[in-house]
Amino acid sequence: MPVLSAGAGLHETLALLTSQLRPDANHKEDMVFLKDVFSEKSLAYLMKIHEKLRQYERQSPTPVLHSASSLVAEELQSGPMSVEEKELLHLLTSPHLRAVLSVHDTVAQKNFDPVLPPLPDDFEDELEEESVKIVRLVKNKEPLGATIRRDEATGAVIVARVMKGGAADRSGLVHVGDELREVNGISVMHKRPDEISQLLSQSQGSITLKIIPAIKEEDKLKESKVYMRALFDYNPLDDKATPCQEAGLPFKPGDILQVVSQDDGTWWQAKKVGDSNLRAGLIPSKQFQERSFRLSRKDRQGSSGEANASEPGEPEFLTYEEVTRYQQRPNERPRLVVLIGSLGARINELKQKVIAENPHRYAVAVPHTTRPKKSHEKEGVEYHFVTKQAFDADAQNNKFIEYGEYKENQYGTSIEAIRSVQAKNKMCLVDALHTLRTGEFKPYVVFVKPRIPESRRRRSAATSPAGGEHGRITEEELQEMRQSAQQIEQQYGHLVDRVLIKEDSASACAELRGILERLEREAFWVPISWIRT
Ligand code: 5GP
Repeated sequence: MPVLSAGAGLHETLALLTSQLRPDANHKEDMVFLKDVFSEKSLAYLMKIHEKLRQYERQSPTPVLHSASSLVAEELQSGPMSVEEKELLHLLTSPHLRAVLSVHDTVAQKNFDPVLPPLPDDFEDELEEESVKIVRLVKNKEPLGATIRRDEATGAVIVARVMKGGAADRSGLVHVGDELREVNGISVMHKRPDEISQLLSQSQGSITLKIIPAIKEEDKLKESKVYMRALFDYNPLDDKATPCQEAGLPFKPGDILQVVSQDDGTWWQAKKVGDSNLRAGLIPSKQFQERSFRLSRKDRQGSSGEANASEPGEPEFLTYEEVTRYQQRPNERPRLVVLIGSLGARINELKQKVIAENPHRYAVAVPHTTRPKKSHEKEGVEYHFVTKQAFDADAQNNKFIEYGEYKENQYGTSIEAIRSVQAKNKMCLVDALHTLRTGEFKPYVVFVKPRIPESRRRRSAATSPAGGEHGRITEEELQEMRQSAQQIEQQYGHLVDRVLIKEDSASACAELRGILERLEREAFWVPISWIRT
């Protein structure tokens, strides 16, 4: 078997390997493939180039001359010339060879000036500010080749034009729309345009610019307009499937995510709405997350047979719900407002208070009951008084959004009763979170949660908000309140638009009033299906 000498190059190794390939009946295809790869001409050339470079590296050549260009210009041209000398001169003065000689001289003289000044001391801090770019340009006496303007709204200094072929353009680092913050470490924020121009033109050799890069128009257009409400809790640090935990975007149920790229079917890129971080993070795609849920459910069912509890009418797996901004128009009927409260929230009282303050704007749906009318009551005011048969028939026909029994009488709220409140252009407040998640009602869900002190020690300060209104509460009762809030969060968290932490009745009432007022004035996220239908 041939043996390679210690000094043998890659080229020889490759030739030897090729000759060693023996036909093998079992791996015929692999052999043919390997032979093809080894005999590939470009690979042989690459090997040769590699070896030549290695060879020169070992020789560590030093330039014989530092000025080959002047040799051509001066030495060759002095004195009478033979025909051969003339031909050589002709060859050496062709533009390409002149350029090669000039490069040779630059390298030989190590003439890479100008030397760039050290980076500013506060450089590290700048990097904290994610979008800042430090641009270092080398230019001669020529101007930068960019014009600036001041943004009237923000006062920022913006690059207005970049002249084709100028220093800024050639660098490829300065673009129209970039915000200029500093020139050579001097802030331009409060400078006049002529002062800034002077700063820019004064700099010779190298110039350092601190820039906030513009988001390119085409990028803005490319940017996806897909928004999703997260319906589950995601922490990339707990996710073994993610290709990169650090690149993951954590979120909670109810967070609105702008999905900026769905190019990858498994990992989407998204940003959290309202988050100042400009960089997108990885989140599992809807399909991928559904698959994960399906797999983990199978696992669980294998051991305990636990079923998946979801609201009627909800998708089987709660992953994401596509949403869009919706602003109620003046001619549209008011949105339905759903109040849900955990133990101790006393939402009924809250609801009645808000309505009493503003009975023309807010109302509750008049419930149906089978109990007899009391003397002070009026049909259709406190209740719709109906017979048991009529009530049962309505219940059968799904006329109620919810119903229940109290002291052997039946009570229920009908969809029609809600519609009739809305027909009067009043905002209807209900406390049943049911299947009214449709474009007709566009429910806005407020979860009222009493502030519950964390420990007994803190509570003993006596001004506990939860305790304040309820008198003294025991640690057990507090624990029940905590559990109730947790349960609601787990079960309905993904449907909640707003959490109202109730300190006391008066402040909660004021806050709720504020929420209801904004609901008519401002835009809110709603499922896209409510708008498309
Ligand atoms: P009352 O007969 O004193 O007017 O009401 C008794 C109870 O009936 C109330 O405290 C409340 O719990 C219940 N009730 C009133 N309206 C409704 C309703 O629309 N649905 C259900 N499930 N219960 C109601």
